[in-house]
Amino acid sequence: MLPTPPSWQPASTATFFIKVCLDQQPIYRSFLKTYGEIIADMGGWDVYCAICGSTFNSRLSVDSDDETDLTYSGEVIGESDLQWLQTLRALGLSTDSPEERKSFITGQGVYDDHGMISVAPGDDPHVPIDERGQMPLWSAYHDPTYEVNPIVFPFHEVCYKDILLSCFKYEKINTDVIYAICEESREDQLPRLMLDYGNPGPPYEQYWECRKGEEVTRISTQQK
Ligand SMILES: [Zn+2]
Repeated sequence: MLPTPPSWQPASTATFFIKVCLDQQPIYRSFLKTYGEIIADMGGWDVYCAICGSTFNSRLSVDSDDETDLTYSGEVIGESDLQWLQTLRALGLSTDSPEERKSFITGQGVYDDHGMISVAPGDDPHVPIDERGQMPLWSAYHDPTYEVNPIVFPFHEVCYKDILLSCFKYEKINTDVIYAICEESREDQLPRLMLDYGNPGPPYEQYWECRKGEEVTRISTQQK
């Protein structure tokens, strides 16, 4: 009997469903093809910065008139205060690289939803690019298709420059070590590292939750 697609989809449910289909190959592969679009229509999910634990997307609610607690107050924060959240870079590993150093840091990019990110190669020569100058598709933290997308650890560009590099006094950092720490701290199917980011930290829900009173925690270190 064919499995039934989930009616509600946190990241883990859709991923589980995809994995079931792939494990039952080949018969379910065609089924997955059919229902893949349905799963995609069920909505995406947020992934979180490996450094600060916050969201990347612009699905944040700022509303001065909303009297519920599930929005940021427009009297405290504006849309422009949240722009920094959308620019990310990512730490990855190129296992095929002949170099001793296998890790790389991409250029700027954005979160595309469904666990995928789009980034420019940037200026790190270790970023893997094929003969056509193309990069692979990157999955943040884990590959929801269980197929071929390499994983990367995403972070806000601001967090990279103002927190990570600053911690190392802007000296050259060993990204292989940072990657190994991230790899040790991730858990399959979770869109975050299992670190204590404090409160508010990355939720276990589908999306980041906006709550009144927490506006200041979404303002970048460059603005505080
Ligand atoms: Zn961050």
